[in-house]
Amino acid sequence: MSLSEQQAAGLSAETMVVAAGRPPRERDQPVNPPLVLSSTYYGTGPLGPGDRGYGRYSNPTWDPFEEALGQLEGADLQGLLYASGLAAVSSALSLIPSGGVLVMPNHSYSGTLVMAAELAQKGFIELRTVDIADTGAVKAAIAPGGPDARAAAMLWLESPTNPMLGIADIPALTEAAHASGAIVVTDNTFSTPLVQQPLALGSDVVLHSVTKYLAGHSDVVLGALVTSNADIRSALLHHRTIHGAIAGPFEAWLALRGLRTLALRVEKSQESAKVLAERLGTHPGVESIRFPGLRTDPGHERAAAQMKGFGSIICIQVAPAGGLDGAAAADKVVEAVNLWLPATSLGGVESLIERRRRHTAEPATVPENLVRLSTGIENVEDLWADLEQALDTLGG
Ligand SMILES: *Cc1c(COP(=O)(O)O)cnc(C)c1O
Repeated sequence: MSLSEQQAAGLSAETMVVAAGRPPRERDQPVNPPLVLSSTYYGTGPLGPGDRGYGRYSNPTWDPFEEALGQLEGADLQGLLYASGLAAVSSALSLIPSGGVLVMPNHSYSGTLVMAAELAQKGFIELRTVDIADTGAVKAAIAPGGPDARAAAMLWLESPTNPMLGIADIPALTEAAHASGAIVVTDNTFSTPLVQQPLALGSDVVLHSVTKYLAGHSDVVLGALVTSNADIRSALLHHRTIHGAIAGPFEAWLALRGLRTLALRVEKSQESAKVLAERLGTHPGVESIRFPGLRTDPGHERAAAQMKGFGSIICIQVAPAGGLDGAAAADKVVEAVNLWLPATSLGGVESLIERRRRHTAEPATVPENLVRLSTGIENVEDLWADLEQALDTLGG
């Protein structure tokens, strides 16, 4: 819209979130893109690729966000917005040819896992789930030995995984996948393009639940895909148009408004998460902790090599206490907070806390006493005081 690719290439990401996706600098143009509420557009004669046509094909309110996200992920092409993160997952999975093999982390986001499992159950794809941190096992699943073994058509990556915070070696795995002819999709929801750039690490497609950090205010549900491959993009665009999982223009407008503060929000919440993780790690109510920013975390070195920062999601397992098992103790902590919000989702300005196994769809391999913390932008001492008093209700 306003920034040429050349201009964009020279600007830092924290500038881009503010500067990208603006209307042209012409006298009396608004500085913010307008919200366009129209299901159709004037036109006669044959529809060409440049035509807007109909509200399911395109909407001017999608463009600035899609353009900004494409530039932030370092893509050559505009991104694609969807009605939700899972709508984007559905579109990405449609790239697998009939009966093709999908290799996916066994601790991907639960909705993604359910969708893949249902496709496999119907015989549309073959699903191989793997521990994504185990590079050898993932490579073996992508290209198993033996004459009858079929190589993967798609490698799905999520790193860090939700909620187990497993870290994939993205460059090594994308290289192995490409060597076998598989395309690689990376769910970058936890990291945002400011923290991790999967296209630069070798992925073909990047996925976001825009609902989370990108929009950042827990007031919209949206998803997005980004790629630099024109054939992949046109297949995805066709899928979005025909399957109809399009973004509402008001949500798209809110997402761009949220994106403007992404750099500030990510910086603040990452800093606070590091402080909180260090303190949580020594609290007697915490049995174990996963946060890639801790030196002791099994994913620390890998995360340090491919991320700028470590995100702001922390997972703890709550220790059994006072006759309560771990799950009951975890519930007690979540019920005892006053500032943290006991609610699902993540990536908003407000800090959220949840025992994940309250969802029946969460894999049984996620421990019952696991509590996921999404660190927001509140004062870190206020956040700590609230967590500490909640953990202290277990009676050290
Ligand atoms: C929330 C989430 C999704 C699904 O996105 P929705 O916007 O809820 O449909 C996908 N992947 C990850 C990592 C998520 O956290």
